[in-house]
Amino acid sequence: MLKTTKELLSEAQNKGYAVPQFNVYNLETLRSVVEAAEEMNSPVILAVTPGTRRFSGDAYMHALAHTAAKVSSVPIAYHLDHHTSIVDVVPSLKLGAKSIMIDASMETFENNVRIVKEAVETAHGYGASVEGELGKLIGTEEDITVEEGEDALTDPEMAKEFVERTGVDTLAVAIGTAHGLYKSKPNLDFDRLKKIREAVDVPLVLHGASGVSEEDVRKCIAYGVSKVNIATELKIPFAEALRDYFKAHPNEQDPRKYFTPAKEALKEVVLQKIRMCKSEGKAL
Ligand SMILES: [Zn+2]
Repeated sequence: MLKTTKELLSEAQNKGYAVPQFNVYNLETLRSVVEAAEEMNSPVILAVTPGTRRFSGDAYMHALAHTAAKVSSVPIAYHLDHHTSIVDVVPSLKLGAKSIMIDASMETFENNVRIVKEAVETAHGYGASVEGELGKLIGTEEDITVEEGEDALTDPEMAKEFVERTGVDTLAVAIGTAHGLYKSKPNLDFDRLKKIREAVDVPLVLHGASGVSEEDVRKCIAYGVSKVNIATELKIPFAEALRDYFKAHPNEQDPRKYFTPAKEALKEVVLQKIRMCKSEGKAL
């Protein structure tokens, strides 16, 4: 059944688990995620970036996710991740999308407030919830690269002001995670997370969770993170399984054959991440 991210995260926040969000790109990746969520009886968020919407087609991805929500036994939300402008998501809102992220974290605080506040006003008009981000994550997400040294962790007092002034529904925080793969072990600022949790009441979101140890993600959940985003860690096993398959079967042409091990490999990671988020058995 289709749910809004807000509904899924309020429940998670009340009960002390996190809802995993997985980036999907096509039918194969989307179905693997949904199959894993069904096996674990877990709520799940399917996410697409602006690049995926361009590559796979907005209406197609929207239809896939909404069909999944319709036929599936588990609660599913469909989220438009890492958009920089509300203008880019309006076509999806018109299609019925109910969950978006407006990432203006690279802007000044005042600009971030203004951009997200405007987005909230528009999105709420369509019944959609909005995730904002305060602080910067190093690494590359789509076309945005933040270099090391440029990162700024989220300030708890500013987070409070940001949430109050924008009316944002969920908040992505920067506490030391990065987008993409880590060069060295991430050093997370749990004290900061605790202070942010005390300062604001909206659900908190952890980006850049690929490569963070299970122990650290669990600690983040215990300290108040209600959504954990996973992208890179799904891409790797999917691509590796395809490479291995073609090495063993260089002449194979049937997508139903070569996608099967890739789907299985991706599903394994999804199962593991659902366990990590403690969302197993939490489908309402
Ligand atoms: Zn992100």
